[in-house]
Amino acid sequence: MPGGEVEVKIAVASGKGGTGKTTVAVNLALSIGEAQLLDCDVEAPNVHLLLKPGDIDSKPIYVKVPRILEDRCDYCGRCAEACNFNAIFVARGQIILFEELCHGCGLCAKICPRRAIVEEEKIVGFVKWGWAGGIELIWGELGVGEPSPEPVIEAVKGRMDEGRTVIIDVAPGASCPVVSAVYGSDFCILVTEPTPFGLHDLRQMVGVLRRLGIPMGVVVNKAGLGDRGVYKYCEMEGIPILLEIPFDRRIAELYSRGIPFIQEMPEWRGRFLKLMDDIGRLMG
Ligand code: SF4
Ligand code: SF4
Repeated sequence: MPGGEVEVKIAVASGKGGTGKTTVAVNLALSIGEAQLLDCDVEAPNVHLLLKPGDIDSKPIYVKVPRILEDRCDYCGRCAEACNFNAIFVARGQIILFEELCHGCGLCAKICPRRAIVEEEKIVGFVKWGWAGGIELIWGELGVGEPSPEPVIEAVKGRMDEGRTVIIDVAPGASCPVVSAVYGSDFCILVTEPTPFGLHDLRQMVGVLRRLGIPMGVVVNKAGLGDRGVYKYCEMEGIPILLEIPFDRRIAELYSRGIPFIQEMPEWRGRFLKLMDDIGRLMG
């Protein structure tokens, strides 16, 4: 798979924020040259700030939210019992919907025996897209205060072109939005730092990926700092280390100026392309 000749979907994830996950995703996409780059970190998307795509297009994302017609309600409480998110409170003569807790699953409207709950559409965020050279960048923006990023992540992934190499920048952590973003990927790159915190979060993500059956490899960022715990763990677990990015003042400076480092350090392009080759080999 030299330089992305075979179309694969590669997620780039990390158990915690600040490990350089976005840096890896952006530099990998730039090294390949022709790719789709999906920013699924919809609560704090930042890939577009690094790549500065032109001619940005966007589309609102709607979800259904319940509206209670109180004149039909007899306060039986069935909706509150059924709601898995405690978004409805019913007391004698009173019903309250906590919109910020509602995940728009529609269950309450379905089970209400008096048809006292109707569903209405509400905008929860936007999916946006634009081109930066040969890279089509697609990102999501979750509305402020919206509890559930999944509909926006799904909208971003919905624009995925199966016929091209796709790089997916996943939100940090190991929670539901991370699972939504990595689900369906052919391979996942786990970016970590060689520190005890990095190792702790790496273990969590390895568990998630194993349950999902997604093959993985590790990129160690800020290599040279910290200890050997991450290396020993990867060896023990049979997880390949695909690339080490040293703790380098120049890389850090470029990052702080919002410049992907392969643009100023072209020698790294070959290293990222070799990483793609290695992923191809690992996937057989
Ligand atoms: S299930 Fe329907 S009738 Fe019963 S409390 Fe909820 S909204 Fe009211
Ligand atoms: S739509 Fe789902 S999450 Fe929202 S209040 Fe109804 S049951 Fe609860």
